[in-house]
Amino acid sequence: MSNRASEIVAKNETKCVELFKKIDEIAYFNQKKVLDAFRKNRISAAHLSGSTGYGYSDMGRDALGKVFADVFHTDEAIVSPLIASGTHALTISLFGILRPDDLLLSVAGKPYDTLDDVISGENVGSLADFGVKFQSIELSEGKLNFSEITDKIQKLQPKVIFLQRSQGYDWRLPVSIDEIGEIVRITRKFSPNSVVMVDNCYGEFTGFYEPTDVGADVVIGSLIKNCGGGIAPTGAYIAGKSKFVEQIGYRFTASSVGTEIGSCISGYLPYYEGLFLAPTTVASALKSNVLSGYVLKDLGFDSTPECGTLPNDIIRAIKFQNEKKLTDFCEAVQAASPIDSYLTPEAWDMPGYNHRVIMAAGTFVQGSSLEMTADAPIKPPFIGYLQGALTYEHAKIALTEIVEKLIS
Ligand SMILES: *Cc1c(COP(=O)(O)O)cnc(C)c1O
Repeated sequence: MSNRASEIVAKNETKCVELFKKIDEIAYFNQKKVLDAFRKNRISAAHLSGSTGYGYSDMGRDALGKVFADVFHTDEAIVSPLIASGTHALTISLFGILRPDDLLLSVAGKPYDTLDDVISGENVGSLADFGVKFQSIELSEGKLNFSEITDKIQKLQPKVIFLQRSQGYDWRLPVSIDEIGEIVRITRKFSPNSVVMVDNCYGEFTGFYEPTDVGADVVIGSLIKNCGGGIAPTGAYIAGKSKFVEQIGYRFTASSVGTEIGSCISGYLPYYEGLFLAPTTVASALKSNVLSGYVLKDLGFDSTPECGTLPNDIIRAIKFQNEKKLTDFCEAVQAASPIDSYLTPEAWDMPGYNHRVIMAAGTFVQGSSLEMTADAPIKPPFIGYLQGALTYEHAKIALTEIVEKLIS
């Protein structure tokens, strides 16, 4: 590696000291929370092994749900490798609670792209097909529009008030826990029967508190992101108040059996171990996020969140302004990956997108974005999204190689 690239990274690392200290405090706090949940539920070796068939009285499955519920300070949780993805978990959560003629109100802009067809697709078994109405309140200058939100919640009395915590693939900031608390207060005051549901993907363990700590009714996330700790091979979780988690359980399997069934022959070891490692893995991803912000700024690239602020999720959006720099960046991330380092990512017409998309994903778990990955639609202003890193050291090596490529 060139001295110049190493020097740039080393120089910027010194600017991270304060935030790294804060991130370590958060990881310590969350590690304790997770460890306490294991101890309270007396997790033993027997919980790690699997079940077959219907999975009646599968103790590993049931206890895993209890551990997640304790971590999120909720009554109950569904945690399952049988939930195929975050989108699937969000879908069963929405269908579990909404009924014909109910209104779904999204208050932080429209939900994640993969929910578009779930909400309003035509003749695909969408919520719209079943007569569920939908409205969304756009962000104004990247911020929640509290006056419009208050107005609509009061006037429309929505069944579900939905928001996505992460910035996702947008040039905006994540919604903070304080803001989620404010949404809950507005809801309780003006529409007490509404359910506050939060897409928690990418947000877990990035701070001391989760949306459920400030009153959200249901949180949903993927296990191939933060909560799987880089170990869980698939699956998702849903945590919340009993009444809602039970309704979602009936949609997850069948109205007669709910969460009484569901087996996993390979056992639950990677799910327990992944959750146990998640606080420190997320801390590595946060440190990667902070360091990359400073380093890329030094090279003249604007990114969010702003340097010097604690990220509220594990994504950094970087404006490259030109296609070559963006693809150089993605190629460097791929080349610095433990898996498929010898491949060169190429932009392609991915189904469901209006632009060519490039992805660097040299991951152990396919599609895992707690692992260091980058992706971008090829369109001005050529924004690349960088997320994850299982270890901070990996992020630092990769960043040095990114710098080398970008300055050459
Ligand atoms: C990843 C993600 C989803 C969807 O999860 P998949 O597992 O990719 O289906 C939903 N919302 C947000 C904010 C996400 O980051």
